[in-house]
Amino acid sequence: MTFFYRLFLLSSLITTVGLAATLPNTVPAHAQAASCPAPALSRFQRHKVMRGETLESIAQQYNLAPETLIVMNPNVNNGRVKVGSELQIPPYNGIVVEVPSGQSWRQVAAQYKVRPDAMFEINGCQTKPKIVFVPGLNWLPNRPQTTSVIPKNSNTQSRVNISGYPLQEAATVGLGYGWQINPQDGKVFFHSGVDLLSPVGSPVQAIAPGNVVLAQDQGSYGNLVIINHAGGMQSRYAHLGSIKVKVGQQVNAGDVLGTVGTTGQPTAKEPHLHFEVRSSSSQGWVAQDPKGYLKR
Ligand SMILES: [Zn+2]
Repeated sequence: MTFFYRLFLLSSLITTVGLAATLPNTVPAHAQAASCPAPALSRFQRHKVMRGETLESIAQQYNLAPETLIVMNPNVNNGRVKVGSELQIPPYNGIVVEVPSGQSWRQVAAQYKVRPDAMFEINGCQTKPKIVFVPGLNWLPNRPQTTSVIPKNSNTQSRVNISGYPLQEAATVGLGYGWQINPQDGKVFFHSGVDLLSPVGSPVQAIAPGNVVLAQDQGSYGNLVIINHAGGMQSRYAHLGSIKVKVGQQVNAGDVLGTVGTTGQPTAKEPHLHFEVRSSSSQGWVAQDPKGYLKR
């Protein structure tokens, strides 16, 4: 290693550490009140869709990525907007996230790779917000290079290298993947998986071969089994009544992992398996629409 290279490493280390040490106080207390804009969540506008407008044209009008409008508006169907319907228009590209209990908004910022000072300001310098606006497009599985990219299933398709079915019988979808309205409280939330209606006690099986990396109670997921598959893919099986595998165990497609149950905080009262497919990315394990992976 050359001297200069060592010097470079040393200086970059100092920069990193220095930055980390100053981040919590990036915005000095006295500057907060003066420079703090109204929270992004209070600056949403409404847009009534007119004849001839498309999702892309509306997004362009507000300088936003179409994806942002898709996630903010459950009434956008397959990238289409209905004439006469109203859209919520955020002030920036981003996503609305509920800060999980026991976590801070800083952890949410880190998760989405947003600078804490930027996140703090955009949310009106609140110290303990329950719901935050996360600016940027880091929540997208594949961050678009241009603003004209519409998420199609092409992304999901190209990743398909696992497929199978987590139950022995074909099940009705109780609640699909994506932005949904919670039937219990009417609030909009992001459903990271699919709910497959099935009686309590039904065997739950691995959709593809892999390695069990988690098999335990996990908060709102209840009893949860996570399997890592080849190719940076992962499947999750939640609200299980019983777990029949152990961490580290290799499983094959069709191996029983446990049984359908009602543990955790299932969205629907009707017994179901909450099933997720995730893919590894720089943002961690990003939820995918399980639809493309479910095959019987
Ligand atoms: Zn669910």
